[in-house]
Amino acid sequence: MRKMEKAKAICLVEKKEKPGMEYAFWQTYRNLGNKEWKLTYGSNARVNICPSCGKIGFHFNAEKGEYSCGAPETVTARELGKRILNHVRKRLETGGAAEIQCF
Ligand SMILES: [Zn+2]
Repeated sequence: MRKMEKAKAICLVEKKEKPGMEYAFWQTYRNLGNKEWKLTYGSNARVNICPSCGKIGFHFNAEKGEYSCGAPETVTARELGKRILNHVRKRLETGGAAEIQCF
């Protein structure tokens, strides 16, 4: 298993299905190199998901160069570990597969 500190990013993927469609939502934690990981959100659904807060909407203010909802959250490696375990537990409890990508 790869050491967590060596991974550039870890992505927790959640899939939601509607008849004929499957959407994926994901949280990407990027290694900032100082034991902190920056969280951003993404989705392949046809809605704008704010990368900073994960809610539907477009919150980036290009003039100010910042998000109106605040800067993306950063977490410690320990907190990220907890979230990964939580992700796996929730997926298993709901009968789904836990998908975690490491790159
Ligand atoms: Zn936002």
